[in-house]
Amino acid sequence: MGLRPNLLTRRTAGVASTTLALLLSTAAVGVVPAASAFSAAPGEVCVEPADVHSDARMKPGGGAKHEPNELTLAETREREADLAAALRERGRFRAGAGASTMAATVTIPVVVHVIQENSTRAGGNIPDSMINSQISVLNQSFSGATGGASTAFSFQLQKINRVTNPSWYPIVQGSSAERSMKTSLRTGGKNTLNIYLGELSDSLLGWATFPTRRLNSMDGVVVLSESLPGGTATNYNQGDTGTHEVGHWLNLYHTFQGGCSGSGDSVSDTAAEASPASGCPTGRDTCTAPGVDPITNFMDYSYDSCMYQFTAGQASRMLTAWNAYRAA
Ligand SMILES: [Zn+2]
Repeated sequence: MGLRPNLLTRRTAGVASTTLALLLSTAAVGVVPAASAFSAAPGEVCVEPADVHSDARMKPGGGAKHEPNELTLAETREREADLAAALRERGRFRAGAGASTMAATVTIPVVVHVIQENSTRAGGNIPDSMINSQISVLNQSFSGATGGASTAFSFQLQKINRVTNPSWYPIVQGSSAERSMKTSLRTGGKNTLNIYLGELSDSLLGWATFPTRRLNSMDGVVVLSESLPGGTATNYNQGDTGTHEVGHWLNLYHTFQGGCSGSGDSVSDTAAEASPASGCPTGRDTCTAPGVDPITNFMDYSYDSCMYQFTAGQASRMLTAWNAYRAA
């Protein structure tokens, strides 16, 4: 199933204006740009890629070549430079304390906001049991229990916040309503994972922000409520959208970032991949570089039944990013 061409055009056009709107609103309220160390030339909307929605996972899988929220090469370079700068900043802050103060294991507090149009299931009212199952999926995925590398992260549900507000439903990516929703609801510090659940615009399964040096009210992940375990999103209802989006929230790129060339996803143990995988194409090999495509990796676009692992390199990248951006 591919993304309908008319939808693709509409989305691409919509995001350009959305990005501009976000920049204008940022200027209007006087928010200090997170990446202030870098010059923000006009048109460099990638200066704060986490302020616009930095990633989106779509129901159709790999059909969208122009998915608006995949990063350009310039944007990944900007992010990598910012990560290095954040680490230097942290290093100065911790001078004399030594590397031993860097967290090695992390329990992430999670606040789940269930956005509902009304009290019906179709209106977003999913049971607590699905949310608890999603937390279990996160803990299994990030612990390596499903087959991948063990990461530093575990997740602890703090609160389920149910909000009935038809003007926030569905959650429209990049809209002023989304900004309003997050500004109103986001809780906790940089270490708190805010998950927003609901019906989503544009056939999206979810999207996420990457970490930034200054906490941004947009920080968090948005996930299609029916993608949670037991949901109705066929092929995408085992909770791996949640895992994928949290991967971005912890600074992971897609496995197909950058295609076959360059530094790809900035992780050395994920084989290069030319484009998103769709379905479960075992043996797919789209780059001449060694290794078949990492279609079983959580950061690809495969079916939930097909993806089950992070790599050691991804685990390391996430922990580094945690200590650079989100640790207290
Ligand atoms: Zn993604």
